[in-house]
Amino acid sequence: MSCGHDHHSTGLSGGALSAELTAADARCVDAGQKLTAPRRRVLELLLEAGQPVKAYDLIATFADGAPAKPPTVYRALEFLSKQGFAHRIESLNAYVACRHSSSEGADNHAAAFLICDCCGATREIDPAVLDSIQAAAGARDFTVQNVTIEAHGLCADCSA
Ligand SMILES: [Zn+2]
Ligand SMILES: [Zn+2]
Repeated sequence: MSCGHDHHSTGLSGGALSAELTAADARCVDAGQKLTAPRRRVLELLLEAGQPVKAYDLIATFADGAPAKPPTVYRALEFLSKQGFAHRIESLNAYVACRHSSSEGADNHAAAFLICDCCGATREIDPAVLDSIQAAAGARDFTVQNVTIEAHGLCADCSA
């Protein structure tokens, strides 16, 4: 994914980053969970990136010097996804921090993404079609456990 123009990063740093991590910590405590050091580190990397990151990039940047043990990172990603701190983007085989976390008490929620194929910018939106999916599934006695909608295209910057 490379194109000639500049893209502004949506990643967090400094005070905003630590505020988000502190909020995540508090949410874990509320849920009777623990934001262990590896979970916190993976969440930090996702928040810093501000866009989808592949698991092997997380493994490579997890610690200074030696890469992390893959199971450590995968287990952390599983926890973060389950608790609603992160989402897996199937079509990119990557993970992205959930930006709803601090506002709502978001647990494992349905998500929809607008993914720019030019710069990779990924924006989480409310899945408005969720109700119709639930209704269609309900009519077939199907229990929906997880929905992720991924729309590919060009962001405003890239289509300008
Ligand atoms: Zn989300
Ligand atoms: Zn773009």
